[in-house]
Amino acid sequence: MGFIDTIRSFNKPESIKGGDKVEKKEALDMFCYQCSQTARGTGCTVRGVCGKEPTVARLQDNLLFAIKGISAYLYHARELGYTDEEVDAFIERGFYSTLTNVNFDPSKFVELALEAGNMNIKTMQLLKKAHIESYGEPVPVEVPVGAIKGPGIIATGHSLKALEELLKQTEGKGINVYTHSELLPAHGYPGLKKYNHLVGQLGGAWFDQKQTFTKYPVAVVGTSNCVLIPKDEYKERMFTVGVAELPGVQHIQNYDFTPVIEKALELGDLEEEPKEITLTTGFGASTILSLAPKIKELVESGKIKQFILVGGCDSPLAQAKYYTEFVEKLPDATVVLTLACGKYRFNAMDLGDIEGVPRLIDIGQCNDAIVAVDVAVALTELFGVGLNEVPLTIVLSWMEQKAAAILWSLLALDIKGMYIGPILPGWANDDIINVLVENFDLRPIGDAEEDIKTIMG
Ligand code: SF4
Ligand code: SF4
Repeated sequence: MGFIDTIRSFNKPESIKGGDKVEKKEALDMFCYQCSQTARGTGCTVRGVCGKEPTVARLQDNLLFAIKGISAYLYHARELGYTDEEVDAFIERGFYSTLTNVNFDPSKFVELALEAGNMNIKTMQLLKKAHIESYGEPVPVEVPVGAIKGPGIIATGHSLKALEELLKQTEGKGINVYTHSELLPAHGYPGLKKYNHLVGQLGGAWFDQKQTFTKYPVAVVGTSNCVLIPKDEYKERMFTVGVAELPGVQHIQNYDFTPVIEKALELGDLEEEPKEITLTTGFGASTILSLAPKIKELVESGKIKQFILVGGCDSPLAQAKYYTEFVEKLPDATVVLTLACGKYRFNAMDLGDIEGVPRLIDIGQCNDAIVAVDVAVALTELFGVGLNEVPLTIVLSWMEQKAAAILWSLLALDIKGMYIGPILPGWANDDIINVLVENFDLRPIGDAEEDIKTIMG
């Protein structure tokens, strides 16, 4: 079996319902229905009536997905008053290039995807600056998982601005505020952790929300993606703010959380739970780089053999169990950097430390991939080698379009030999995969033990 066949067979998903195998339907070569010429009035699926080739159509889709990812980070930066004209201009140009009869050149769309990667780096830097200037640089913090007696509000999503406004408005009201999913790293920011009623975390990654929000009868605020259509059990105590909106769910305007506070008080107390799990988060670039001399010594003495960035978007696919097994089976001489909600696959594990350097370092939300880039660059300086020679391997999980933007950012930095899963992006046909494999040595995740052997050499 050739490499592409291996990738394709790997890419056949198992059903997430009860683990039954399902056959993946044959993919369409392309799908485009954006203009009136569209085939049979329903969609061009083999080749565009305009002459657009399937690979161009898929590269256009990829560019749109990467731009969607960038726009999420840009939105959260703008919430805090930070904007970037160059990124705005790129987004316009990127969108425009996918209009009917504008650009039929596949190589240009690969260039545009790499440019999107660079623009995403710029945007993640902008958002990091916005977060740090607004709330200070994160510091490591232990976050208890479990309820505290008293009324509560769970905040989920990515918006630190929305969380800050919620914390300000609930201060002194006897309400405990909990994070869920991608708001966990908020606990590390001095400007947010100073609120004593930011008490902990309930639940884990985004897709446990129906279970978590049903279990805890408190008010819930969705601040961004990933929100799910709520169950009836908690629909009337759920709220959205900012870009997130859900049918039948009250939307908060201008960060005025009065209805949420009223609902939380009306719902009454949660019962105290034993805190069996504590999650550590909040490693900013400064904290990690303060360990640089020790890291150098440990790498040179062979006590640290490899840094591995394991992170990205978690998904409920059965194959995502790979990430738990992968981290569990890593040799002791490895340090895991992690970010985004993929971390919930393993962040409750106690991996210990190597002479004071923690073996599990949570650097934050998905946009904090920029911190990983800073650390990677610092490693190049520390060891006097190029990015592809530092003892760092990237193992990415992707679910939605922010991860597509991050993937192109890492490719734009010319990082080679990354692993990606739990399945390969659906927009990538064999032509595109060939380019990614040949130019970037992009690899699908496979068997955890085998991958570890390859990575460790
Ligand atoms: S832009 Fe081209 S591929 Fe898309 S619907 Fe129109 S004719 Fe078909
Ligand atoms: S990291 Fe990705 S999957 Fe997870 S909550 Fe954020 S956007 Fe959603």
